Amino acid sequence: MAPSAAPGPRDCARALWLLGLTAPVTREEVTAAWRARVSRTHPDLHASSAAKSDAAAVLTRALNDARATLNRWIEDRRDWPDVRPRATTVRFDEADPEPWPERAPSAEPAVVDRRTGLRAGDRVRLWPYDGDVEQVQGTELDGPEGPTWVLFADRAAVRSERVRLAAYSCPVCGVCAGPAVDDPAVRPCPDCLVDLRRLDDRPAEAPRIRRAIEARAEAGVSIARELDDGRLIDRATERRRWARRLRDAGPEDLHAALLAAFGRAWERWGAPVG
Ligand SMILES: [Zn+2]
Repeated sequence: MAPSAAPGPRDCARALWLLGLTAPVTREEVTAAWRARVSRTHPDLHASSAAKSDAAAVLTRALNDARATLNRWIEDRRDWPDVRPRATTVRFDEADPEPWPERAPSAEPAVVDRRTGLRAGDRVRLWPYDGDVEQVQGTELDGPEGPTWVLFADRAAVRSERVRLAAYSCPVCGVCAGPAVDDPAVRPCPDCLVDLRRLDDRPAEAPRIRRAIEARAEAGVSIARELDDGRLIDRATERRRWARRLRDAGPEDLHAALLAAFGRAWERWGAPVG
C-alpha cells in the first residue's frame, strides 16, 4: 500500500506478519526486524542479474511498505489491532517458530494453521474427498503431538488428515483441486507453505524446492485437464513452464525467483477479499 494512505488494522496486521513481529512494537523493533529481513533479499545484493534484482525488489518493496505502515501506526499512536495468542493452532514445530509469527490477528486474513496450511474460510472436502465442498471455521491442535482438528460450523470436528483443500489453485506451483467452481480460490497450496518456510531457513534447499514445484505443476496440469477448467489448466501450464525455465538458474537467481514467487502469492492471498 502507499505509505501516504492511512493504513487500516488489516494493513497493520499484515505488516506485523511480514516482519515477524507481535504487537505492540517500538520503532526500534520495527527497524531491527526490517533490517534483518531486507539484508537477505535486498536488490543491491543481486545487481549482477536483472531478473534476480527484479525478484528481490518485489520482496524488498513489500518489506519497506510494512515498515512504513508500522512506523506510521506508532507515530499516530493508534491502538494495535486485536491480536490474540493462537499458539495452539499456528505452531508448526516448536524448535524454529520463525519466520512465521506465533501470534496472528483474528481478523481476516485468518491465521494459517502451520500443520495443515488451512485457515478459516478455506473450502475443503472430507475423506473420501468426493462429497460436497465445506467451509473451514478454524483449526485446533490437540496437545503438542497433535492431532489437529478441523472445525466446521455445522458438523463435528474432523481430523486434519481427512480434510483436503478443494476448489483452489496455487499461484506458485499451479497445483489445483476440484470440484470446478465459478470462483476457485487462488491460494498457496499446503506444500508451498511448507516450502516457503524451508527456503527462508535453508536457502540451499532451493533446487529441491524447484523440483518439487515442477512436479506439483505437472500434477496440476493433469488435474486441471480432468476438471476441464481452462483457467486452472492455464495457470498450471504457466507455472510448469516457469519452474522448467529455472532449471539452469544459478543458486542466487533461483533463490530470489522462488522467494519472489512465494512473496507474490502471499501478497495476493493476504489481500482483502473483493
Ligand atoms: Zn503450490
